Amino acid sequence: MNWDEVKVVALELSNYCPMASQHPQCPASLVKELTILSIFSVRRVLFELKAHDYKGTINLHRYNEPMADPRLFSILRICRDHLPHARPAISTNAQFLNQGVLLELVGAGLERLHVSLYGSRQEREQLAHKMVDWQLAFPGFEMTWQHPANKPLIDNFLQIYEAPCLDLHEPCGEPLSQINISCEGDVVLCCRDWQNRYKFGNVGLHSLNNIIESDEFQRIHSLLSAGDRSATELCRRCATAR
Ligand code: SF4
Repeated sequence: MNWDEVKVVALELSNYCPMASQHPQCPASLVKELTILSIFSVRRVLFELKAHDYKGTINLHRYNEPMADPRLFSILRICRDHLPHARPAISTNAQFLNQGVLLELVGAGLERLHVSLYGSRQEREQLAHKMVDWQLAFPGFEMTWQHPANKPLIDNFLQIYEAPCLDLHEPCGEPLSQINISCEGDVVLCCRDWQNRYKFGNVGLHSLNNIIESDEFQRIHSLLSAGDRSATELCRRCATAR
């Protein structure tokens, strides 16, 4: 297994987002029961990545709001102390941030931040001005945000399982280039698979390496790498190539 092929490992710390009710197109808006990825699984994955001297991005988000997780700072510190070549990242909402919090996040080891701007156009513009100020205050820290003219970007994933099949033959690097670990600890197909229908194994029970090297994972990865979207019924309906 060549770990250089893995660019992102996404750990969905929970299925909780306090903004979910405002975004009916986000899978988090459908959550009925809180599920939290166990710290055992988080640590197990991070220390396995350490053993592989992992150099890619570690997303601490999928459909969850990472800033709502009280374990976020301690998880960032594990990344900082044990994965010096990896890049911990979060995607969050501007309302959870101020300059002091940003300072703490950077100190805990966060290396990449994406910020969603919500509210009226005017409010989004004000937030974008703040982002520019923060970027000046933290030179070298990678910070991105959506343009205030754009409404928050949440792709229309919810209907994807029932969408018509597409006749696409573009290769897709997922599930290997971006490994998605659901809040239940399952390695799943990709972020499009928001219902976690396609599971390859649970990180609480198996090493990431064994899951990736499993026959089913390799079968689907080989098909998608060759542009064969018959790999899954979801891939047949997906317009994305990652
Ligand atoms: S083709 Fe689409 S659904 Fe399939 S793995 Fe790639 S991004 Fe996910």
